[in-house]
Amino acid sequence: MKRISVFGATGSIGQNTLDLIARAPEDYDVVALTGASNIDRLAADAIRLGADIAVTADGDRLGQLREALAGSGVEAAAGAGAVIEAADRPTDWCMSAIVGAAGLQPGLRALRHGGTLALANKESLVCAGPLLMAEAARHGARVLPVDSEHSAVFQALAGEDMAAVEQIVITASGGGLRDWPLERLAQATPEDAGTHPNWDMGQRITIDSASMFNKAMELIETKEYFGMPPGGIDTVVHPQSLVHALVQFRDGALMAHLGAPDMRHAIGYALHWPDRRDLPVERLNLAQVARLDFAAPDPARYPALDIARAVMAGGGLRGAVFNAAKEAALDLFMDRQIAFTDMAPQVARTLDALEGRGCLDADTITLDMVLQIDREARDLTRGPVCVGD
Ligand code: NAD
Ligand code: MG
Repeated sequence: MKRISVFGATGSIGQNTLDLIARAPEDYDVVALTGASNIDRLAADAIRLGADIAVTADGDRLGQLREALAGSGVEAAAGAGAVIEAADRPTDWCMSAIVGAAGLQPGLRALRHGGTLALANKESLVCAGPLLMAEAARHGARVLPVDSEHSAVFQALAGEDMAAVEQIVITASGGGLRDWPLERLAQATPEDAGTHPNWDMGQRITIDSASMFNKAMELIETKEYFGMPPGGIDTVVHPQSLVHALVQFRDGALMAHLGAPDMRHAIGYALHWPDRRDLPVERLNLAQVARLDFAAPDPARYPALDIARAVMAGGGLRGAVFNAAKEAALDLFMDRQIAFTDMAPQVARTLDALEGRGCLDADTITLDMVLQIDREARDLTRGPVCVGD
């Protein structure tokens, strides 16, 4: 039996993970499930799957969670600290699917058990990739990608030598506003940007797809996972979202990974690795698919990509600033305080401001450094100096 915990169990990735686990309950011993505001779902899943503990990140909801779990024997805990502590409970496999930088600390703690961290929380790699990977190495733990593109690259690289890789290309759907005229983008509402043509995902990542901040983060994620130099990483717009990534080898071979847009493939691959098991995902019929389209992304439509390239080139604490500023700018857009097209300039301004203070270079980054610069970047992005100038 595999001991597993799911952080962010109530979200889109979390629910897809539980779907796979619930299909073979005899294979898993569920340790901890965590969520935030959706107490009913968290409690129902914890009871259904026989978890040891259910934790809500919302410190005010302990009473509600206790009530929902009454008589079940499942422990209850609440607060950001309790979520992190839940990762101290030993597991063999842990899903990191909290959205945002809040996922970093539980992931770091889970690595101490030396098992597998299935990493959907890309923010961890963007804000602290070298720290996370060093922690994994220190404890003999394994980080497996749970992003469709990175799982695809990981699979294309199986048995290959990184020295034989020339380029990694991750695909981008172009998001919900892909076909909008450029001049209309400033009027896009969170509802417009929060609809995805191919993937059913959480609201934040869906809006990040429309702005391509998601792809920008994934470029950085590619560098951190695979140790690929930034010049060897690229993205291409592929509206059908059927090819997830491609690896170009030195001998001219281009290995592509195709599949239906269903995150249960990437989650299941990480769950069963190194084996492949049956997964309940749709099979592609290429004759029906008929065509696959590709186009270079327009830098004017997707300015986040160029910002990510500068972040990758500079390294140090720039990823932490980029992620925190992006999260804060997204909050402002979702609160209708700034326009869709203000997000990228806002992030660039925060990076420039902190660059000007000369505090972003660091050979080794620590958790304290990341947490501190994260706070500064959020304050700066939310601050009046940045808004609307
Ligand atoms: P979601 O919004 O659907 O779910 C987020 C989860 O995190 C929920 O369980 C929520 O309760 C929890 N949460 C939110 N704020 C929290 C906080 N401050 N502290 C603790 N828990 C908190 O998001 P999602 O779409 O499932 O995405 C989760 C992660 O996976 C993100 O990092 C996202 O980028 C990544 N990812 C998602 C997809 C996808 O298809 N949804 C694909 C690739 C990568
Ligand atoms: Mg992705």
